[in-house]
Amino acid sequence: MSTSPATTLVLDDRFARELPEMAVQWKAEETPDPQLLVLNERLAGELGLDAQWLREPDGVRFLTGNLVPGGANPVAQAYSGHQFGGFVPRLGDGRALLLGELTDASGAARDIHLKGSGASPFSRGGDGLAAVGPMLREYIVSEGMHALGIPTTRSLAVVATGRQVARETLLPGAVLARVASSHLRVGSFQYAAASGDLDLLRRLADHAIARHHPTAARAEQPYLALFESVSAVQATLIAQWMSVGFVHGVMNTDNMTISGETIDYGPCAFMEAYDPATVFSSIDSWGRYAYGNQPSIAVWNLARFAETLLPLFADEQDRAVAIAEESLRGFPARYAAALSDGMRAKLGLRGAADNDAVMALVEDLFAQLQQSRVDFTSFFRRLGSAARGDLEPARGEFVDLAAFDDWLARWRALDPDGDAMDRANPVYIPRNHLVEEALKAATAGDLGPLQQLLAVLAAPYDERPGLERYAQPAPDDFGTYRTFCGT
Ligand code: AMP
Ligand code: MG
Repeated sequence: MSTSPATTLVLDDRFARELPEMAVQWKAEETPDPQLLVLNERLAGELGLDAQWLREPDGVRFLTGNLVPGGANPVAQAYSGHQFGGFVPRLGDGRALLLGELTDASGAARDIHLKGSGASPFSRGGDGLAAVGPMLREYIVSEGMHALGIPTTRSLAVVATGRQVARETLLPGAVLARVASSHLRVGSFQYAAASGDLDLLRRLADHAIARHHPTAARAEQPYLALFESVSAVQATLIAQWMSVGFVHGVMNTDNMTISGETIDYGPCAFMEAYDPATVFSSIDSWGRYAYGNQPSIAVWNLARFAETLLPLFADEQDRAVAIAEESLRGFPARYAAALSDGMRAKLGLRGAADNDAVMALVEDLFAQLQQSRVDFTSFFRRLGSAARGDLEPARGEFVDLAAFDDWLARWRALDPDGDAMDRANPVYIPRNHLVEEALKAATAGDLGPLQQLLAVLAAPYDERPGLERYAQPAPDDFGTYRTFCGT
């Protein structure tokens, strides 16, 4: 007789063991009628999970937290956070649960985490639930980001619970099984720092170093090295967001990871017409988290992170502040280097010698894209064709054609590599109207459009015949797109 995967599945509870002050033992709510909507078989394979079993009733119960493997110790994690600039000392997993950590095929620890698993001591009056639409949305966009090569939490499955969730109307409920290299956030450090327990803060920092930035342990100043590593991975991450037109939408400090993975796909969306002021979130009325503000918000969040680490930087406060400030001053150069890498790839100019000339080209191009409201994603594929000599598709986009022709001549003089551009510029991204179309069909019971969209997004750089509509911007009648948090 074969043993059930539930009895052989090993979920560690290292976070809960090392940081018990930040972990509340908790259980998922029972799901009345769980139905698996989508399963990421490839990711299951990477995690050493049996996809066949995950489709069976026990597997589906595992994916909703209703079947807890022996030895596992599910917890709700505590964290704080600055939300739109205001500090909230107690946020935490108000509708989520860390089932535990498993070791993937490459030997790395991965959190298995549920979102929409019911109320917890951190729910602050919320119902702890999630609806099918937003959980499928996170699935689509996070997997799309992964296929684009951008560090992100992953989505293993979405299970409809059979329970209704009360929002503006009653909606079908769902649980997302999320996988991450960890759920440590800047907000986790804010929680430890606010507790005033220096031992807890140090244990958290050591835990983060061991898990994500092990070379920091050997540095002369390990905690400063941790901070620098997090700055570096965040600089790279934000540059990658900027390169594909991704607007996170809610860059609160609780939504910024220590690992450098994108987390918390709430009101995020992709920009179409190039405009740094692009905002989708219905509650971001001041544009704090607009596309063009993301790099400076990252610095702001990193400054909050540095504040939490001050007692570990030096005994004397003034000296600790000076260390933090000096390190933070390094962010703009780090970010600029990551951005210029990304932009050189987009323009097919990886080999160009003069970086200042390339970045001047980028600046001029972006001003023209903005003036002519050019679709950011499709433009760079057209420009790839222009590198191969077919100029018209790119030229057709501009109001001031003389200015663009001048730009084209300067760019072509640097000998751009069109084929390399096609490997750096996606054809297919999770466009807002396509995501909405798939969610609407799925909520009404038709999973076909969702599966098709996921298949398209899984190979974003390979242009395929018959998929033209997935490469086009939203039709005019799609209107202004608005997204919502915490839905
Ligand atoms: P988010 O906007 O998803 O980053 O969530 C911010 C905070 O609100 C986190 O502490 C969440 O756990 C909590 N939260 C969001 N939605 C709910 C909900 N429906 N019930 C309880 N807590 C929630
Ligand atoms: Mg969050």
